[in-house]
Amino acid sequence: MSNYKIETKCVQSGYTPKNGEPRSLPIYQSTTFKYDSSDQMGRLFDLEDSGYFYTRLQNPTNDAVAAKICDMEGGVAAMLTSSGQAASFYAIMNIAQQGDHIVCVSAIYGGTYNLYAHTIKKMGVDATFVDPDCTEEELNAAFQENTKAMFGETISNPSLAVLDFEKFAKVAHAHGVPFIVDNTFATPINCRPFEWGADIVTHSTTKYMDGHASAVGGAIVDSGNFDWEAYADKFPGLTTPDETYHGIVYTQRFGKGAYITKATSQLMRDLGSIQSPQNAFLLNLGLESLHLRMERHCENALAAAQYLQNHEKIAWVNCPSLPGDRYYDLAKKYMPNGTCGVITFGVKGGRDACVRMMDSLKMISIVTHVADAKSCVLHPASHTHRQMNDQELLEAGVQPDLIRFSVGIEHIDDIIADLKQALEQV
Ligand SMILES: *Cc1c(COP(=O)(O)O)cnc(C)c1O
Repeated sequence: MSNYKIETKCVQSGYTPKNGEPRSLPIYQSTTFKYDSSDQMGRLFDLEDSGYFYTRLQNPTNDAVAAKICDMEGGVAAMLTSSGQAASFYAIMNIAQQGDHIVCVSAIYGGTYNLYAHTIKKMGVDATFVDPDCTEEELNAAFQENTKAMFGETISNPSLAVLDFEKFAKVAHAHGVPFIVDNTFATPINCRPFEWGADIVTHSTTKYMDGHASAVGGAIVDSGNFDWEAYADKFPGLTTPDETYHGIVYTQRFGKGAYITKATSQLMRDLGSIQSPQNAFLLNLGLESLHLRMERHCENALAAAQYLQNHEKIAWVNCPSLPGDRYYDLAKKYMPNGTCGVITFGVKGGRDACVRMMDSLKMISIVTHVADAKSCVLHPASHTHRQMNDQELLEAGVQPDLIRFSVGIEHIDDIIADLKQALEQV
């Protein structure tokens, strides 16, 4: 980890050209890499040497961008994945298998909920969902003998619950399991979960990190803090010989790099959810200005939330940075410089009024996306979460009249003018 401030890491980390080399990160648009001797290549396959041989496993462009994200989060190792969904999947399946169990906060992204509640269940991994505001006692009760991880989101999409890091970290560690946090909405600019007890961080880089709605991608970062060998019986995949690599033991051979090395050499090898080097290049461009954009996203979101809060046609507003919000205190504690650019609100008159308002917007567009430069809205009950029944919606913290508003980096006056004229149509 470098000692630079986060703003400098955004720009400089991950790639330092040598004399005469390109100043910008090159795109290694090559599936494969050449070696002089058969023996050299063989050593790579045995994980004896580190080096590139096939882009499904590793590529220099991807590795540079992963190293930047790793430095920004303050981790020891990281990898890019083809999407945030792949990152969420790998993060769990790297340490859980058939017959295992995870504990998960219920207020999470709809896609992650489906993945953990249904898809990995078919693979034999069960999940117990807990309320983000649960007591320590309730949280303790969710853990089982076979629990392998605790998962939550820094700021949940779309319900905007702020994770009480210290509560979840304490209980997860008391049960000898790592605490995995999806830090997509806050980004390492506003929150670094490792400083609050998280062991592994995941990202959908599709959102603020890319920041321009250009490339789908994900990342996994390991803090190196979780002591797998202290719970060797729970994590045999990391602490006992891997026969597919001549019996190497990841924790012994790779130390703090064990978790990411295993995810690369087993899951990426076998499942292949690699990010394309082209997309990694775009992601890196986004990262270079992330610190500037996050500041403006947060400033605009707070101003838009204050405008909506005082509007007679608005039923309610959620924005963790807004005084009076139920997560305001947690947000101030864990994210003193700002939360994110996403807010939610309900229009008086329920579902129909919401749809009417959204259809009247001119600059702010209706898209299935959040967290890029352009302001946009979405109605989760009719879009992203439409596969959920009412009970599941409420458990995920989504009211039927909830509009998710991703506040962009346009001028705030234009954003508010569009909201104003659209609300006049309601
Ligand atoms: C979008 C999102 C994901 C999924 O990421 P994709 O890149 O779309 O696969 C996961 N977590 C959060 C918080 C998200 O917003």
